[in-house]
Amino acid sequence: MQLSRRRIILIVIVALVIAVIFHKSHKEETAECLNNMKMIWGASVSHLLENKLMGNTVISMPKIAPYLKGGVAPKCPKDTNEYASFVFDRGPRCPNSAEHSSIFVSDQCAYERACLWDMAISYGRRHHLAWDTKVDRRMVASAWSDTQIQQRDNAKLIHDSCPLATNDYPAFRLSEGPVCPSSPPHTANFRGARANSNYFDRAGNVITNRGL
Ligand SMILES: [Zn+2]
Ligand SMILES: [Zn+2]
Repeated sequence: MQLSRRRIILIVIVALVIAVIFHKSHKEETAECLNNMKMIWGASVSHLLENKLMGNTVISMPKIAPYLKGGVAPKCPKDTNEYASFVFDRGPRCPNSAEHSSIFVSDQCAYERACLWDMAISYGRRHHLAWDTKVDRRMVASAWSDTQIQQRDNAKLIHDSCPLATNDYPAFRLSEGPVCPSSPPHTANFRGARANSNYFDRAGNVITNRGL
């Protein structure tokens, strides 16, 4: 009796240790899923460029599998549903967690705006503009050669609009940076805004006293 009780305790301890080792924390699950969606979107860029497709193309997992590591689409660790097809410009969503999707969309929107802002600042420097000059996407993009834009698109995920909607980022002052036209919380989230450390402080605020 004594021995079997000990044995039961031992089994419970072993089971707990295994559970702790294999259990992914909420944070780890989220990070893994966000990374999966980035890889899926990245693979779609290759698929689009190679086949000269437009941003409204519907991307399915079998189509982009050849561009993914191991030739298979990753899975969100939170549950068993697999990533569904999506319109390229809108990007993928998590089939298992609205929270994963919402963080992904918000981060991507912040990233897009950070890149656009960075390009606008380069543009402003080249044209000796003041910090309070209003610029728009087209102006900024026109200053880039086709090769530069091609390289930029290859290197990063640039869509020039929020993954939530198709309306482009509106004109903005160089000192303020672009806002998200679809979501005020997106505008508040400016992770990645420090792309150009010459002009942004650690909090992502632009350093205007350095001039352009
Ligand atoms: Zn997920
Ligand atoms: Zn947005």
